[in-house]
Amino acid sequence: MTGPAFTGRCYCGDCQITARSEPEAVSWCHCADCRRLTGAPAAAFAAFPEESVTLTPTPTPLEATPGVTRWACPRCGSALAARFSYLPGQLYLPLGVLDAADSLAPALHSHHASRLSWLHIADDAPRHAGTARDALSDEALSGSEE
Ligand SMILES: [Zn+2]
Ligand SMILES: [Zn+2]
Repeated sequence: MTGPAFTGRCYCGDCQITARSEPEAVSWCHCADCRRLTGAPAAAFAAFPEESVTLTPTPTPLEATPGVTRWACPRCGSALAARFSYLPGQLYLPLGVLDAADSLAPALHSHHASRLSWLHIADDAPRHAGTARDALSDEALSGSEE
């Protein structure tokens, strides 16, 4: 894999992230799971080809929701990556842990119907009421339903 490397780290610095390709999608997510995971009123993620991402060290994955695998720093708890069975081949990295977050403006909103009523994001990115999986990955078109 060639191309620019995106780097990142968790809050405490124990875990490092490298992605050796351009993201395939960058999206807000307004679902309740992402709010609980991040503690923030909305989450935003960049989707990278799974094989281009390295977590150092690789923490033990957590699967609290069937079909969703997540990695977090075992020391500070920062969310590092997530994989969704209906979005094969992609890893979703939270923008907040990436050093280049300022250059990764989300291009769409997922689960917009679940957003907090007082949160108003003034962009023109398309709003998807639900998952937006078709916009996130062509491969997801053949995936299973939630
Ligand atoms: Zn940490
Ligand atoms: Zn979400």
